[in-house]
Amino acid sequence: QYFVKNIISGNTFVIDEPETFKHVAKVMRHKNGDVVYLVDTSEKLYVATITKIDVDDAKIITTVELVDNPSTEMPVSVTVACSLSKKDKIEWITQKSTELGARTIIFFDSKYSIMKWKKNVVEKKLARLQEIAKNAAQQSKRRIIPQVIYVDNLTDLLKYKAEANLVAYEESAKQGEISRLAQTLNQGYKSVLCAFGPEGGFAPDEIDFLNQANFLSVGLGPRIMRAETAPMYFLSVLSYKYEL
Ligand code: SAM
Repeated sequence: QYFVKNIISGNTFVIDEPETFKHVAKVMRHKNGDVVYLVDTSEKLYVATITKIDVDDAKIITTVELVDNPSTEMPVSVTVACSLSKKDKIEWITQKSTELGARTIIFFDSKYSIMKWKKNVVEKKLARLQEIAKNAAQQSKRRIIPQVIYVDNLTDLLKYKAEANLVAYEESAKQGEISRLAQTLNQGYKSVLCAFGPEGGFAPDEIDFLNQANFLSVGLGPRIMRAETAPMYFLSVLSYKYEL
């Protein structure tokens, strides 16, 4: 499956994005008559039969037919906002959050984040994470590639607020507020954002700040999960609630 940066209309489509051309023609060595799947920017899935591979112009001509499969996207737009962590962990979070249906993945700097990103590395790091999201989206047969975003402070995180905004706070779990998550999910919101703290958790003043910005503190059950596990628990709960 390949993502194309257009809306497909009519019954032919020309694959001319260099990366996709290279993968289809050179890596997979597809031939005339082979089929590939294309997802366009309107999140529709097409089966595309290759009719001509034009190596000189780096173009592949295909005839396309809409595939009437149900969307693989969650009926609610989910953003997971995770505190910065080590490279392998944020890569893992990006890949797994994509597999589990997140639409937006935000990494943010917080007081107890063990990693900090210098300004001059942000673009390169985001490009790598975006590539990981793309590969995971292809393999999971998503209809979109999740967007990966970085903000270096909590105030900027507020720019990405959803209809319902949550902060996963283990103290809420201890205080028996577990059902707040279930209550929120029963409201039928179209978009939900949940923020997750780093290995050392959120500082109390960060929780106060988020609460004042209308983020509801929620517990995610009685067990304390690692920073990278908590967003996966959250995404799985949402999938269970909305998709199963
Ligand atoms: N400071 C905590 C401690 O040592 O007890 C651990 C923080 S936990 C490793 C990292 C993040 O995962 C937390 O900031 C929170 O956002 C989330 N988290 C983990 N388990 C949770 C739970 N049971 N309920 C709510 N949030 C949880």
